[in-house]
Amino acid sequence: MDHTARFAVDCLHKQYPEPDLLPEDACLIFVRDGSVCVRKGSTPTILEKVSADLPEGLKRDARYLGHRGSVPCYAVEVGDLPLPEGLAYSGVRELAGLIPDEELAVAGLAVQIIDYDRTTRFCGRCGMPTEPAKTERAKICPSCRRVTYPRLSPAVIVLVRNDNAVLMVRGTGAAPGRYGLIAGFVEPGETIEDAVRREVREEAGIAIKNIRYRASEPWPFPDSLMLGFVADYDGGETAPDGVEIESAVWFDRDHLPDLPPKFGITRALIDDWAAAVSVPELQ
Ligand SMILES: [Zn+2]
Repeated sequence: MDHTARFAVDCLHKQYPEPDLLPEDACLIFVRDGSVCVRKGSTPTILEKVSADLPEGLKRDARYLGHRGSVPCYAVEVGDLPLPEGLAYSGVRELAGLIPDEELAVAGLAVQIIDYDRTTRFCGRCGMPTEPAKTERAKICPSCRRVTYPRLSPAVIVLVRNDNAVLMVRGTGAAPGRYGLIAGFVEPGETIEDAVRREVREEAGIAIKNIRYRASEPWPFPDSLMLGFVADYDGGETAPDGVEIESAVWFDRDHLPDLPPKFGITRALIDDWAAAVSVPELQ
């Protein structure tokens, strides 16, 4: 499926071991409370150079993201320090379309890695302060040797089709007229196909068949990985659960509701189906 995952960070490659000190030619992304620092102007950017007056504490706490070409990129959590002139904080999603897509993806990663760093400073088993691993993105406990990786939460999203119609659902509390596709997190012990079947059963009350994988999308708010599927209706009357979902409706191809913005996997799955691109059968 032709789909550009907006938060896929394919512009960075990781090199290990990381340098012990923050390199002088590094590029920094300043992060605070899930927001990133933006330099406003004719070409807004989140990428800052290492300046001579950068406090030592911030240099020490800079977290390696990867190399962009030959330039190492680091995320730095700045806390309550006053911002220099010309800089302002912004939520990452609000920057879509304002900064280059490549920077947007790096911003998402920076926020995710700072959150990971902040929540893994101590060993979850024995409480000792952790240390960064030398050869991969992980933390190691020097006492019990427990290894902690960044948390990734796999979630499934599925477009269910039936002849010329597509199943869309409205979450309780969603904006008027806002419909989306069925989605939910994968549970321990479940295959992702089982998760797709369960979510459709729970949210819409119907059975599906022919589950086929289409595309994926990292969603760093804070740590989801969306796995997109298409499936065919296989029986039952739609019966929304009334808790998460207040309405589940079959929409005809020619009478779709307002659709989500033209990026992201939800819209990609819908556009793909609406364009009547046939989904190849798995061999
Ligand atoms: Zn430990």
